[in-house]
Amino acid sequence: MTRKIAFIGLGAMGGPMASNAIRSLGPIHVFDVVEANLARVVAAGGVRCASVAQAAQNADIVVTMLPATPQVHEVVAAALAVMKPGGIVLDMSTISPAGTDAAAAMCEARGVRFLDAPVGRLASHAAAGKSLFMVGCDDEAAFDEVKPLFEAMGDTIIRCGGRGTGIRVKIVNNFQVLTIAQITAEALVLAAKLGLDVETVKAINAGTTATNGQMQVNFATKSLLGDTEPGFTIDLAHKDLTLAMEAANACRLGLPGGAAIHAVYGAARSGPYARKDFSSLLDYAAELAAISPPRLQAK
Ligand code: NAD
Repeated sequence: MTRKIAFIGLGAMGGPMASNAIRSLGPIHVFDVVEANLARVVAAGGVRCASVAQAAQNADIVVTMLPATPQVHEVVAAALAVMKPGGIVLDMSTISPAGTDAAAAMCEARGVRFLDAPVGRLASHAAAGKSLFMVGCDDEAAFDEVKPLFEAMGDTIIRCGGRGTGIRVKIVNNFQVLTIAQITAEALVLAAKLGLDVETVKAINAGTTATNGQMQVNFATKSLLGDTEPGFTIDLAHKDLTLAMEAANACRLGLPGGAAIHAVYGAARSGPYARKDFSSLLDYAAELAAISPPRLQAK
């Protein structure tokens, strides 16, 4: 039996993920509110839909890759209105844990199964089909049904525990990614002020326990080469750090280092940096220090 898969949210991540899914699994039904994003995936073989309802009508699996909790709730509600019982909603967005639990409850009330499977790594990994998925799921049959999608879009599937654990692990991981990104920006600006060579600073970082993916992969392939196109916007990064701060607050936990860095993202997103890649924290830190942003020589 041919299965109907719908994919809603075709931005920096959802676009390449859906295109990779189509390449491996054949046409899937796609929708995005931004025509240019929809058109890109239709050009890759997606079946153009004019609404969430058209995409999700009688779908076996509805995948959502949307900015934040409100969009996920809006789209899941629209999908549930037309899905049949027994279908699956697979939310891959990064949203609040409470938002995930509420989306799961909305699905349950309609007899639709729900998995949270937020995505790790960068947009470049999504384009290369090398994403990592953090899966929260206690329904083995549902997991087996969505597994071919994971295999088409990524190379690492990590089962995190029951429903809701995927999103919680994702928030913990992004807390690390986003705070390390700011420390990387500050370290590079300090190095520039001390007159050091960026390549040397990067090599020393790689050879010691200071090493991290922001210096070696993200900054090295984006802002350190002068590329600040998103990727992952500072606006969405601020949203994720806010999710971590709120989660900590809800369990009476202070994250003092994180709080300081959260304020940096808050300031950066109040101007034009909001729409830039989060590795452009480097340029923001350089701007505050009134120096030119450090750069690697392109090879
Ligand atoms: P994005 O803003 O590039 O894409 C989101 C897409 O959703 C856009 O195309 C937008 O038009 C669409 N959309 C918004 N509301 C909609 C609606 N009601 N119906 C249909 N489409 C709608 O964001 P992104 O970078 O692709 O991130 C998506 C999610 O993945 C976010 O939760 C983000 O935090 C998370 N994430 C991003 C990255 C990354 O590197 N960009 C990595 C991992 C996880």
